[in-house]
Amino acid sequence: MSRQDVKIPTITLSAGPVDAYPAVLRALGRTVTYDFDPYFQGVFERTARKAAQALNTDQPPLILQGEPVLALEAAAASLIGPEDVVLNLASGEYGKGFGYWAARYCKEVVEIEVPYNDAIAPDQVRDVLEQRPDIAVLSVCHHDTPSGTINPVNEIGALCRQHDVLMIVDAVSSWGGMDVDPITSHSDVFITGPNKCLGGTPGLSVVHVSDRAWDHIDANPNAPFASMLSMTDWRKAWSADEKFPFTPSVAEVNGLEAALDLYLEEGPETVWERHALTARACREGMKAMGLTLWPAREEIAADTCTTIRVPEGLEDEAIRQASRDLYGVVFSAGRGSLVGKLIRIGHMGPVAEPVYATVAITALGGAINHLGGSADIGAGINAALAVINAARV
Ligand SMILES: *Cc1c(COP(=O)(O)O)cnc(C)c1O
Repeated sequence: MSRQDVKIPTITLSAGPVDAYPAVLRALGRTVTYDFDPYFQGVFERTARKAAQALNTDQPPLILQGEPVLALEAAAASLIGPEDVVLNLASGEYGKGFGYWAARYCKEVVEIEVPYNDAIAPDQVRDVLEQRPDIAVLSVCHHDTPSGTINPVNEIGALCRQHDVLMIVDAVSSWGGMDVDPITSHSDVFITGPNKCLGGTPGLSVVHVSDRAWDHIDANPNAPFASMLSMTDWRKAWSADEKFPFTPSVAEVNGLEAALDLYLEEGPETVWERHALTARACREGMKAMGLTLWPAREEIAADTCTTIRVPEGLEDEAIRQASRDLYGVVFSAGRGSLVGKLIRIGHMGPVAEPVYATVAITALGGAINHLGGSADIGAGINAALAVINAARV
């Protein structure tokens, strides 16, 4: 069958982008106004202020006009200057990948790398910062989504403050689903977006930049301007009294506002709890079914994505295909060096609802059994329900 004839999935349990909330989709369908019309300038400022409220910051964040990879590259280009030594933390594909961007702009990249089922320990960071007082910038991915593992950014951020190092955090697939924010983590550049836990669409980045980071950007002779990679261009654009450097994605901004409204109305803590409960039910179910979690220790498993080792003797692609063909349920594949080793079950935004843990168990277990593997689906469902019931009864 040609790819053009493939049916749309019934349920998407991917590690992002997520199936956006209906309210977001309705907002995307609103009238597209002239960007310099005062109405849209008002929408943009209101959206930036709601983003600040959601991020727990005083200053409205940057809203950059591309999905969060744009913001990661823009952060490297803007913050990292030719004299800077960068400490890059790599516990997965995204953390590793940031080091390649950093290398384009800096004097030297120093790297701490751990196996991609593990997390960076603050002690490792402390040792390197003590040995290398010339380090100016540290970069870390909070939730390295291809691994489903979490790095301790609050502890790492405190070390950065002690050593006067600027910290860049990729929180794209954790912020909005877990308790992480730019202020508590002491982040200087904190990057997220609508298309993961917020249940929005891929098209924008949301970036908090600290005053210290702005000073560093202002002093960087190579910081881009009049460029899609510029953070400086958009610095003041949040204000309805300022001009946009280029046309903003009007529809995407409307969608972001709707996603932020949902998040703020439900209340961040309630949102985090439902992500955490879904993940816990999913992990317990997967273990009871006889499968093995990918993270080396359960404490570092993310609340927004559960990663499962591909069972011995089976192929990841065949499992995901069977799940899609038989049940219409879609999971994410591994990425980069992890392709074929694990399967990823997203709990982000609309599908961060505990009952979806039982959907994941049914579809993954059903696919594995169909291919001749052995998964005890009944035990898995019972274990997941026990977690949910214990939290709610
Ligand atoms: C999703 C994601 C991004 C954005 O990148 P895409 O893969 O292009 O969607 C960046 N960082 C992390 C950790 C992500 O999960």
